[in-house]
Amino acid sequence: MIPFEDALSLVLSHAKPLEAISVPLEQCFGYCLAESVTARMDLPRFDNSAMDGFGVRLADVAGASAESPVRLRLVSTVRAGDEAGKELLPGTTTKVLTGAPIPIGVEAVVMREFCREESGEVLVARSAKPGENIRRRGEEFRQGDQALPAGLRINPAGVGLLATLGYTDIPVHRKPKVAVIVTGSELVAPGEELRPGQIHDSNSYILAAALRAMEIDDYRLASAEDTPEAIRTRLAAILDWADVVITVGGVSVGDYDFVKEVSELLGVRAHCWKVAVKPGKPFYFGTRGEQLVCGLPGNPVSALLTFYKLVRPALLRLMGESGAEPLPLTAILTAPIDKKAGRLEFVRGIAAVKDGRLVVTPTTGQESHMLSGFAQANCLIRFPKPAESCAAGEQITIELLDWDG
Ligand code: AMP
Ligand code: MG
Repeated sequence: MIPFEDALSLVLSHAKPLEAISVPLEQCFGYCLAESVTARMDLPRFDNSAMDGFGVRLADVAGASAESPVRLRLVSTVRAGDEAGKELLPGTTTKVLTGAPIPIGVEAVVMREFCREESGEVLVARSAKPGENIRRRGEEFRQGDQALPAGLRINPAGVGLLATLGYTDIPVHRKPKVAVIVTGSELVAPGEELRPGQIHDSNSYILAAALRAMEIDDYRLASAEDTPEAIRTRLAAILDWADVVITVGGVSVGDYDFVKEVSELLGVRAHCWKVAVKPGKPFYFGTRGEQLVCGLPGNPVSALLTFYKLVRPALLRLMGESGAEPLPLTAILTAPIDKKAGRLEFVRGIAAVKDGRLVVTPTTGQESHMLSGFAQANCLIRFPKPAESCAAGEQITIELLDWDG
C-alpha cells in the first residue's frame, strides 16, 4: 500500500502532454494551449473612449464646475467604428461614444453626465485629469508581448482574447481518447429489468459525466462480465484505440477480480496497486508504452473519488495543463468525524459561509456505496492519514469540488 501522494506523483510521472494540433477558434474552449500566444497587435489597438462623453483639452475645462460651467463649441461626433477625424482645436469639444477613437488634441473625456448640450454648444460642469476616461493604445499589450502562456486551459475569457487578437486557428494539445470498461456480472443497464441479485450499472454514467464535465468527448464505454475471457476481449480491443483505459471493479482481492492479471497478460506494466486512501484503496495503475491503465474500485463513490483525485489530474496533464493543483482552504468542522489512523480519507462535505467564517459539514452517507452524500457535496474534506478524530469546532483543510478542472 503506497501513500496517496506517492500514487498521484507516480501516475502523473507517466502522463506527458499529447501532441500539438490546431483547432478552430470556435472549438478551442476547454483545450490547453500548446504554445504561448503572442499579441499580434497593440491592445487596445488605438486610444479610445471608455465612456460616452465629450473630448476636451485640459486647459479649456480647468476650473469648470457645476456653478460655473465652461462653454465649448461642439464640432463633431465620433462613434465606435468611426475614424478619429480632425484635431480638436482650443475652445471646441467633440462628442465621443464608448469605444470611439480619440481625435488628436483630446486630452480627456468628460462623462456626458457632467455635460449639457445647448444649441451647438456644450456646457461642461467639471474639470478633467490628464487621460481621464481614455483607454490608451497598448496599455494591455504591445505587439509581440506574450498574451497567454503555454499550458493554460482556455476558458471563455481566453477564447475572447484569442478572438480579440484575430487568431482563427489555435495551437493546443490533443485531448486523450478514453475508454471505460465496467466489470461485474451483476450489472444491468438502467431501464432494463433487474433479476434477483442484479443492480443497475451507475459507474458507466458517472464516468461519462465526469469526462464530459472536463470537455473530454472522445470516450468509449464497454462492459464485461467477471470472467478473464470477457475482460480480456474488451481490454484487448480497446487498447488498440485508447490513450487512457479506465477499468471499474474487479480490482480487489476477491475470487472474481481479474483486471490486474488480464492487464498484465496484455502487456500492461503494473506500477502500483493499493493506495492508502479512503475511499479507493484497491486503485491499480499500469502503463503499456504511453498508454495509461487505471483500475478503479467498483463501489461508485470509490470509483468517482479515485477518478477525481488520481485519474483526472493525469488526464489534465495529457491535455497539456501545467500543474493546476487543488486550492486548499481552511474550514471549521460543524460536526465531529472519526476514522482509523493509517489512510488519508476524503470526506464529502458541504462548505458554506456562516457568520463570516467558512464552515464545512460532512454529508450523511459516507460509505463507499452511498452516492447521495457525494451527489450533494461541494467539497472534499482532507482527513489526514494519522488522525483518528476531528471534533466539531476544529479547523480542517478542504478543497472545493471542481468538475470541469
Ligand atoms: P468490485 O470492485 O468489483 O468488487 O465491486 C465493488 C462493489 O461495487 C460491488 O458491490 C459491486 O456490485 C459494485 N459495483 C461494481 N461496479 C459497479 C457499477 N458499474 N455500478 C454500480 N455498482 C457497481
Ligand atoms: Mg465486481
